[in-house]
Amino acid sequence: MRVLVVEDNNELAELLTRKLEAASFGVDHAATAEEAGDALRDTRYAAVVLDLGLPDRDGISLVREMRSAKDSTPVLVLTARSGVEDRVAGLEAGADDYLVKPFAFEELAARLRALLRRPGEVLGKVLETANVAFDTEARQVFVDGRPEVLSARELTLLEILMRRSGKVVPKRYVEDHLFGMGAEVGPNAVEVSVHRLRKRLEALKARLEIHTVRGVGYLLAEAAA
Ligand code: CA
Repeated sequence: MRVLVVEDNNELAELLTRKLEAASFGVDHAATAEEAGDALRDTRYAAVVLDLGLPDRDGISLVREMRSAKDSTPVLVLTARSGVEDRVAGLEAGADDYLVKPFAFEELAARLRALLRRPGEVLGKVLETANVAFDTEARQVFVDGRPEVLSARELTLLEILMRRSGKVVPKRYVEDHLFGMGAEVGPNAVEVSVHRLRKRLEALKARLEIHTVRGVGYLLAEAAA
């Protein structure tokens, strides 16, 4: 599988290339957003590893450009430690995941593999993760094939997270979809809803975990056995 590494720090780019190749990825390298744009027009990549701080323009604008051109190639953003705003902006622009520098290479490889296993946003009628199925048309959840009753808010939250299963969903996105754009909600409204859904899933023996990604959002994943 071929990956595009967009990174202007040559030392880091070389290190990433070497390590990714050793992990049996094919690697192309772009040092600027312009080079990256050219490479993306020429080649269909399995994923893009994108540094946000590029010399010619912001990496976020590149993600936005890809998404508006209906290019759904998974993007893993690399960002500086202090950049909570960057991370949120990256995810909102359509990046799929992020990694804060400095990071262990093993983590990058693991995140990339996870991204490559996932299709883009799942648009199908029935969403499935672990032992949970969600018929989005009938608004019915099944755990191990048993139909279960969830509140309207629990259903909405679960659907938001299951549609992007395995990816971080920004908190603001959850808030907008759960309560409506620009709704007046308390500072802990999302946390409270997530807490309730976690309890409900646990009671139903659903093998799902909702992880809190501090300062960014939530990620739904299959619970470890
Ligand atoms: Ca940089």
